Amino acid sequence: MTDITAIEREATQWFETNWDAAMPLGEWWRVLAESGFAFPQWPEGLGGRGLSGGEAKAVLRARRSVGAYGPPNGVATFLVAPTLLTMGSPEQRQRYLPGIVDGTTPWCQLFSEPTAGSDMAALGTRAVRDGDEWVVDGQKVWNSGAHYAHFGILIARTDPEAPKHRGVTYFLIDMRQPGVDVRPLREMTGDAAFNEVFFDEARVHDDDRVGDDGDGWRVAMTTLSFERDPGNAGLGDTAAFYQADLAMPVGEHAAAEKAAADGFSITMSGRSGEVFAGALAHGSKDSADPTMRDRLTRLHIDRTVIGLTGRRGAANMKATGQPGPEVAGLKVAGTETGRNTRDLGFEALGAAGMLWGDDAPDGGLFHRFAMFTPAQSIAGGTDEVLRNSIGERVLGLPREPDEAERRTTPWNELRRS
Ligand SMILES: Cc1cc2nc3c(=O)[nH]c(=O)nc-3n(C[C@H](O)[C@H](O)[C@H](O)COP(=O)(O)OP(=O)(O)OC[C@H]3O[C@@H](n4cnc5c(N)ncnc54)[C@H](O)[C@@H]3O)c2cc1C
Repeated sequence: MTDITAIEREATQWFETNWDAAMPLGEWWRVLAESGFAFPQWPEGLGGRGLSGGEAKAVLRARRSVGAYGPPNGVATFLVAPTLLTMGSPEQRQRYLPGIVDGTTPWCQLFSEPTAGSDMAALGTRAVRDGDEWVVDGQKVWNSGAHYAHFGILIARTDPEAPKHRGVTYFLIDMRQPGVDVRPLREMTGDAAFNEVFFDEARVHDDDRVGDDGDGWRVAMTTLSFERDPGNAGLGDTAAFYQADLAMPVGEHAAAEKAAADGFSITMSGRSGEVFAGALAHGSKDSADPTMRDRLTRLHIDRTVIGLTGRRGAANMKATGQPGPEVAGLKVAGTETGRNTRDLGFEALGAAGMLWGDDAPDGGLFHRFAMFTPAQSIAGGTDEVLRNSIGERVLGLPREPDEAERRTTPWNELRRS
């Protein structure tokens, strides 16, 4: 039996000794990575200590009690790392995990295409074998963080004659090569967090193929299951999806992040509760209002049930073991709770809810979260598609009528928009 108190004591002592707000961010992340307290559930030597969920939570409590800044957060930590830990080769883990754990290597996800979003298996970006390499041509879209990512997780069609789910292969592609053109897209939040990405004879070495040729759909589903798990999505209390300045003192970085995160980062770092509390504090309706109290209680229960209250963080990260299709239910519940948080927040704010930017309470932090809320029900699979998935893969309902046929038809014979 493990002694959680001893681990918490050891971690507290480590954080008290090593945490220094004046240290450059990159240096702090490097020290944290070496200690194994960055992602305690990951294997030893790969940023973790192989701890259980309960032990990792003790580490998280220790870090928070000392007020130390958390590990890096983003596509690299919540999608790429768990996929590599579950399905990557030992060489791929050794090559890529160190740069993920210490925050020096940002990643992006290259799955969606203009005509293959919900129907992702219909994707048309091609990868053709050329000796030890693959040559990639095509277009991806809505790729968060692609404008600063060093690498991307890519799914591409390697066998057009196979049915759509079977002719797909999963790669780790270098984004900083001549054949990759990244063009930012602006969202209604005013931020440009995602991009479209064009490939023109870009190259990937066969060593950077994850899983077998033609087995990429299974690997992609593993990645998506991590994306749909709200416990994973907000890996830490650090923000996600932006380019961190590793030379900045970590304390200054943390303060700037708190004041100026975009909607994406607020949501992904699990700060929506804190930002919501700010809206409530500045609102014309307060928590003494009996109706407000009732609705707040409901919201708190919903958030607690799906694991969005305070306890999110690296501690929730499973090193291996893929969440089942049931996780789609958590994602849908998280989306709905996000919408309720937004609606109640605006009600609490009253007239101040109409203000924007610096005119709004807290410099508009709540508004940035609120404007991002609709995106939650699209990113990582829309609510409708996830409900289909629950119907078919959890409840055992029959597939959509056309889909059964589309699953057996060769991809190059499919009707496509
Ligand atoms: C903020 C944000 C970040 C994102 N980041 C990334 C990223 O980093 N990398 C990446 O690859 N992608 C990313 N995406 C893309 C996202 O995965 C897709 O937008 C999503 O899968 C939906 O695809 P689509 O936009 O093509 O919509 P469509 O598939 O065209 O869907 C349009 C509408 O039709 C509905 N619909 C479609 N099919 C069905 C069906 N069978 N049954 C019922 N309703 C259906 C949908 O629910 C939706 O309402 C991101 C999206 C957002 C919003």
